[in-house]
Amino acid sequence: MSVKVAIIGAGIAGIAAGCALRDRGASVIVFDKGRAAGGRVCTGRSAELTADHGAQYFTAREPNFRALIDRLLAANIVARWQGPFRTLRLGTFGPDPQPDSVRYCGVPGMSALPRAMSLSMPICLGVQIERARRQPNGWQLVDASGVLYGPFDSLVLALPPAQAAMLLPATEPMRAVFSRVQMAPTLCAVVSFAAMPTPAAGGLFVDDPALSWVAHDGDKPMRSGAATFVLHSTAPFAHQHWDADAVAWGALLVASFARALGVALPAVLAMRTHRFRYAQCEREEQEGLCVHDAEQQLIAVGDYAAAGRVEGAWRSGVAGAALIRIGQQ
Ligand SMILES: Cc1cc2nc3c(=O)[nH]c(=O)nc-3n(C[C@H](O)[C@H](O)[C@H](O)COP(=O)(O)OP(=O)(O)OC[C@H]3O[C@@H](n4cnc5c(N)ncnc54)[C@H](O)[C@@H]3O)c2cc1C
Repeated sequence: MSVKVAIIGAGIAGIAAGCALRDRGASVIVFDKGRAAGGRVCTGRSAELTADHGAQYFTAREPNFRALIDRLLAANIVARWQGPFRTLRLGTFGPDPQPDSVRYCGVPGMSALPRAMSLSMPICLGVQIERARRQPNGWQLVDASGVLYGPFDSLVLALPPAQAAMLLPATEPMRAVFSRVQMAPTLCAVVSFAAMPTPAAGGLFVDDPALSWVAHDGDKPMRSGAATFVLHSTAPFAHQHWDADAVAWGALLVASFARALGVALPAVLAMRTHRFRYAQCEREEQEGLCVHDAEQQLIAVGDYAAAGRVEGAWRSGVAGAALIRIGQQ
């Protein structure tokens, strides 16, 4: 009988772990509280505004991740985003701060990446796991409606550490590792303008107290070219405005964009806002790219264990999956 593994979190780390475990013959089931797989790699769609509001692009430097991305490039599921990329400070544009970076996007949206990676993966969407306990016969999970799942031979926690900690007993030693990880929040406004606010758009690394990044979403590969922009706040701005009215902080981000460009902006036609409590983590790589308790067959993976970002999440998921025992139980 194949080993049964539960994965909590269908972001890039959880999906990568699921694919690697399935390739090794494990029986995998993934739980995610969201409406779609992908986690922070997400594309919001509405009649007025379609744009990537989470991760903006990804790199593929690690050879095995690069091989996966090459296959997805050939299948037109991802494409290279050529930019231009610039810095922006008080009306002055500077050169691309990482000129050697090759940047990729999902097409027609970033969510194409997790969708393609998770094809035929059994994912229970809309299921928020609230408790995970190791019983004598394996791991048992309980969701927000009190439904029990399990037992599972192994458990992979593929969610931000603060959320992973809440699922485990207070005595679980892994929680001490989680408590040392700090993740920064981001507020995001997706804005449609009546005209292009700047000709020099693409991706802008902004030096501003409120704004850290602006993307012309319409400039990405296989997009409409529309004047839809994604504005990401700095972490201090997100901390300061987290509980405030979203329309108010969205307007502040738009005003910050005008200040950074040094011009008056065209009229705003539509705006949508998003909050990311656990957005980014600049932490050093965790030894082994995951947190591991061999005795309990408990593995925690995610971007935070592999220096952040989409590629880090994938590397962590694959590294964690390799530590699951698949032989005789
Ligand atoms: C605004 C923003 C911009 C970014 N820009 C970039 C970029 O340009 N390039 C880049 O490489 N990276 C970027 N990142 C970072 C990148 O998105 C992440 O590093 C990566 O997506 C993390 O993947 P993950 O699988 O570790 O976690 P996540 O994507 O967070 O996945 C965790 C999953 O767990 C689920 N979950 C949480 N709690 C529960 C629960 N109790 N029960 C069930 N499911 C649960 C969530 O719904 C989620 O789907 C950005 C992130 C943000 C937020």
